[in-house]
Amino acid sequence: LFSGPVDFLRSAPQLQFLPDAEVPEIAFCGRSNVGKSSLLNALTGRKAIARASVTPGRTQELNFFDVGRPEEEGALPLFRLVDMPGYGFAKAPVKVVDKWKALVNSYLRGRAVLARTLVLVDSRHGIKEVDRVMMKMLDEAAVGYRVVLTKTDKIKASELDKVAEATAAEIRKHVAAYPELHLTSSEKGMGIAALRAAVVADALG
Ligand code: GDP
Repeated sequence: LFSGPVDFLRSAPQLQFLPDAEVPEIAFCGRSNVGKSSLLNALTGRKAIARASVTPGRTQELNFFDVGRPEEEGALPLFRLVDMPGYGFAKAPVKVVDKWKALVNSYLRGRAVLARTLVLVDSRHGIKEVDRVMMKMLDEAAVGYRVVLTKTDKIKASELDKVAEATAAEIRKHVAAYPELHLTSSEKGMGIAALRAAVVADALG
């Protein structure tokens, strides 16, 4: 399905720039540098639909991508991927963080077409306090989410087991989190096909 077209639609730095809520949306979030752009690129099989971040924490917009938009003029895509601004940037000024929170929270709470969110967590670090804050926001907005461990090629299998276990335990504490944990490496392509299938099922199922 992702072998069809994936097209950048638009950036929304503020709520009034959101596209019409016409088709299901799947949103991706995580700490800056978690590997979100790489995962989006791996899932869509594109080299750079999402630009890998040069300046972490710079992008404070929601970026929308159309998946499977037919050729006909004005035809709707099957669904949209939403690249949410990275969080947990240590040096971000309070103003930036507040703006991020306001934008993300209003999007999460007001978006009826939001079918699922993916919370990306670097497998080397596991779930951090900022991730818990994000997960709590999703719990409170009643938005179901999948937790995805990224960059699993960067750590030893024994370490990955430990992180996966701790992450699974954390997931069980959150009402809106899916029990299933996804292990991925965008670099090696591990877990990508399974996650892609889950995303498509979430969007169209
Ligand atoms: P973003 O800021 O969350 O969009 O993260 P990026 O996708 O830009 O990735 C941040 C850094 O991690 C880059 O240097 C990537 O090359 C690297 N990276 C991302 N995913 C993987 C992965 O699966 N394996 C490895 N080894 N490195 C990765």
